[in-house]
Amino acid sequence: MAKTFNIQESIRLQKQYCENTGAPHFAPKSGVCWKCNKNIYEELPKVYHQLDGSTETIMCGISTEEAENQLVTGCPHCNRSYCE
Ligand SMILES: [Zn+2]
Repeated sequence: MAKTFNIQESIRLQKQYCENTGAPHFAPKSGVCWKCNKNIYEELPKVYHQLDGSTETIMCGISTEEAENQLVTGCPHCNRSYCE
């Protein structure tokens, strides 16, 4: 399934998800991670360093589908957890 990225929409959907489920809203209200200053709802490249020295770039970010259906507990870019 294709992922869609829309910062404003994701912020709204995550807030709605928390209200509907009664879950605590961990995600930054603006979507901007206070640790790495990147927007968690934006798709950005993340470089993984492999054991053999090579690197692999994978696109990371929280899609609108994920914001709508699951609780955001951390940053997809720097892996900072918001629920500690
Ligand atoms: Zn971050």
